[in-house]
Amino acid sequence: MRPDGRVQPAGMLAQLTSAPKPPDAPSFKTFERRVPDGDTLERLVCRDCGHIHYDNPKIVVGAVITQGEKFLLAKRAIHPRKGYWTLPAGYLEERETTEAGAAREAMEEAGATIAIDALLAVYSIPRISQVQLIYRATLASPEFAAGPESLEVGLFAWDDIPWTELAFPSVVWSLNYFREVQGVKVFAPFTNPVGDLGNGAPA
Ligand SMILES: [Zn+2]
Repeated sequence: MRPDGRVQPAGMLAQLTSAPKPPDAPSFKTFERRVPDGDTLERLVCRDCGHIHYDNPKIVVGAVITQGEKFLLAKRAIHPRKGYWTLPAGYLEERETTEAGAAREAMEEAGATIAIDALLAVYSIPRISQVQLIYRATLASPEFAAGPESLEVGLFAWDDIPWTELAFPSVVWSLNYFREVQGVKVFAPFTNPVGDLGNGAPA
């Protein structure tokens, strides 16, 4: 047993070094890159125990957040696209629902408590192995404030949205999709615009 009470697999134990590691960090010293039997892609496979480490796309959750006719945007304080405006969004955490993740990101990045109303869009961004789920939400209380990942947060009328300073194509898509179904209660979630995989920054 390790100090955290979990059982250490024997094959991994032999490979542990004296360097301090977080308790759950895998040691990849015994891993090789090969196509496992019955698979079609190269994976990281442990030579000792056969354990396969799968790298799969990450899930990003976020929301188009409105108050009245205005849109809540955050100016990024971190790379990539530092200094550009975005919807509050980020990586889903383990054992978290997508809605809870979108609400958490709104709080972390914009100090905003939101009420989620519908799933607005699901995007595939294969270049960076991401799937993005963007919700439609309103501010549940009027307060908001920049979190550590944001330089500033603001409410923008449609015509005042800094269109040339938006961080990612999916931000542009989401704002436009929001407008398409504004006031519509039930609708099918949108996907990538036809032929657009979200590569590159918005024009
Ligand atoms: Zn192993």
